Amino acid sequence: MGKALIIGAGGVASVVVHKCCQNPDVFEEICIASRTIEKCNALKAKLDGGRTKIQTAQVDADDTQQVINLIEQFKPDVVINVALPYQDLSIMDACLATRVHYLDTANYEPPEVPKFEYKWQWAYKERYEKAGITAVLGCGFDPGVTGVFSAYAQKHYFDEIHTIDILDANAGDHGYPFATNFNPEINIREVTAKGRYYENGKWVETEPLEIKRVYDFPEIGPKNIYLLYHEELESLAVNIKGVKKIRFWMTFSDNYLTHLRVLQNVGMTSIEPIEFEGKMIQPIQFLKAVLPDPATLGPRTKGKTNIGCIFQGVKDGKPRTYYVYNVCDHQECYREVGSQAISYTTGVPAMIGAMMIMKGIWKKPGVYNVEEFDPDPFMAELNRCGLPWKEDFSPTLLD
Ligand code: NDP
Repeated sequence: MGKALIIGAGGVASVVVHKCCQNPDVFEEICIASRTIEKCNALKAKLDGGRTKIQTAQVDADDTQQVINLIEQFKPDVVINVALPYQDLSIMDACLATRVHYLDTANYEPPEVPKFEYKWQWAYKERYEKAGITAVLGCGFDPGVTGVFSAYAQKHYFDEIHTIDILDANAGDHGYPFATNFNPEINIREVTAKGRYYENGKWVETEPLEIKRVYDFPEIGPKNIYLLYHEELESLAVNIKGVKKIRFWMTFSDNYLTHLRVLQNVGMTSIEPIEFEGKMIQPIQFLKAVLPDPATLGPRTKGKTNIGCIFQGVKDGKPRTYYVYNVCDHQECYREVGSQAISYTTGVPAMIGAMMIMKGIWKKPGVYNVEEFDPDPFMAELNRCGLPWKEDFSPTLLD
């Protein structure tokens, strides 16, 4: 069918590459391009020999011109951006200049100020419409599948959705005293930020990790969950018409939080550059350098993740509740693609989103979040591609 350019060669990119190679009828050719070409070559060496042809390239995706040159040379149908959120705009610019479809898994972040906002990317809407190309934003698990779940609930089960609770549980244990499951910088920025949720047209702010509950997750059991702000809240508040309340919850172990608190107290999580031996460094980037690389956690991580959404609302004049979730086993993921479940649950939806674009199913000129497309073909692919989902029509609700 076509060609995909995959930018990034980290934990998530590795899963995207494996999954593209499992679908060679759609992904006939891929190019893995990243800052460190050795990582791209290592992935190619693992997967070469199948029906999907693999090329590699070195690219600094902060430099739009380098991305343009690569696109002009490889001529992909879609660019799958699984580098870091800092590269979103330079890659979107390159796609615009070359009229190639675009997909990512995280919203653009200006390097100096953690914001978790879509405004910079939504500002490309008109230019993408005019260029006749599609950008799919936030197509990992959360954001990503959580938006697809919301569109699916809206389409099949509700006349009106009133509340959405997104629950993200990771009961995996990697055996290290402290490590983050994906890019430490992005992860720690997310957790140390103030909490926020949407209620009656307004955003309500909380202190970091101020709101805590216990939730008994299917197949995992009871876990402490904390209210966080997460980027899909912004787009769901706009796209799920009539929604009154949206909250995002994530599990953290006491051990993880104790380590984080200490690191924060000594200033190691700061993004404020400091001078060290004549060089300016961001403490959090130094921290990233000393923590285990998330890509190496795969073989050590045991246990399961459970990510899903609980919806409350009305159908045919009657109240209704609906819980849809996926349970993913770290070790099964590792056996299949050599990565743990956090990378797996992000990489599989990114591949499916790119497949939706290449098949012409999710193709409309402009810039869209996943919940703005037909969820049904995506939901079917989740079941086929390793992220089967389950439903419960009388789940325990959160107060
Ligand atoms: P990693 O840190 O493992 O990988 C990032 C990759 O991007 C590395 O290969 C890195 O290269 C490359 N990169 C960084 N800067 C550049 C640049 N300027 N030019 C080219 N390549 C660059 O991160 P993950 O794989 O864990 O995460 C990838 C993305 O997925 C992130 O945006 C993250 O926020 C998102 N994510 C989304 C989730 C979701 O559910 N929606 C969940 C988890 C992650 P190098 O090797 O040289 O450092």
